[in-house]
Amino acid sequence: MLEIRNLHVTVDDKPILRGLDLEVRAGEVHAIMGPNGSGKSTLAYVLAGREGYVVTQGEIRYMGRDLLALAPEERAREGIFLAFQYPVEIPGVANVYLLKAALNAMRRHRGESELDAVDFLALVKGKLKLMDMDEALLYRAVNEGFSGGEKKRNEILQMAVLEPRLAILDETDSGLDIDALKVVANGVNAMRSPERAMILVTHYQRLLDYIRPDRVHVLALGRIALSGGPDLAQDLERRGYGWVEAEAQKRH
Ligand code: ADP
Ligand code: MG
Ligand code: MG
Repeated sequence: MLEIRNLHVTVDDKPILRGLDLEVRAGEVHAIMGPNGSGKSTLAYVLAGREGYVVTQGEIRYMGRDLLALAPEERAREGIFLAFQYPVEIPGVANVYLLKAALNAMRRHRGESELDAVDFLALVKGKLKLMDMDEALLYRAVNEGFSGGEKKRNEILQMAVLEPRLAILDETDSGLDIDALKVVANGVNAMRSPERAMILVTHYQRLLDYIRPDRVHVLALGRIALSGGPDLAQDLERRGYGWVEAEAQKRH
């Protein structure tokens, strides 16, 4: 589904990613771990097509196509979804309106009929229950005045409504208490499917106690410096990230 080869990315002319390789197949869940500032969010933004993140070398193929040739909104329509580390507030736009507009844009693109208000509400209420969210949050402005936990749940609610093919979750676990973490993990686990891939960006191993990834990768020095199975997350929790960087330094 996703094939990243020798990816180099600069932000404000500063090289952040320097030769990153990653391959993700349909049905898989990959965790990207790494110290603060290692470029995890940069990778997430590049996949979503955020402005200011400049690819200077390398290629990204998504579903066999050149991802970098697609505008951000085309990527979204093609099923790429990014849950933000810092979800944005959109004053004046009701949550329910955004969700419905986004879903119907996606459905039009897939050649499916749009959902009317009644069918949409039925669908979204089921997802609200999954995320243990209050219905009142639908009618508030997107993320405005939401607590940290409500914002993160709202990101997963968006994902559950849009049913993306490739979901990237950027530190959705950070700032969550244990109950909210379990709700978020339940939501993510409910979305696992043979047709869908997920990339979980996380600093801590905690989330991976509830979502067992197929692969764990460590970002260091602008590359995937180490990859392993789900148990690698526990090793990192014990040993920290310093040794991975030291090993990567020796190799380059
Ligand atoms: P992580 O998500 O792993 O904590 P980031 O991708 O956010 O790492 O950041 C990687 C590096 O890029 C950091 O050194 C950070 O300061 C820098 N960086 C990220 N975004 C910007 C930006 N908009 N302008 C300048 N530097 C940035
Ligand atoms: Mg960070
Ligand atoms: Mg980050």
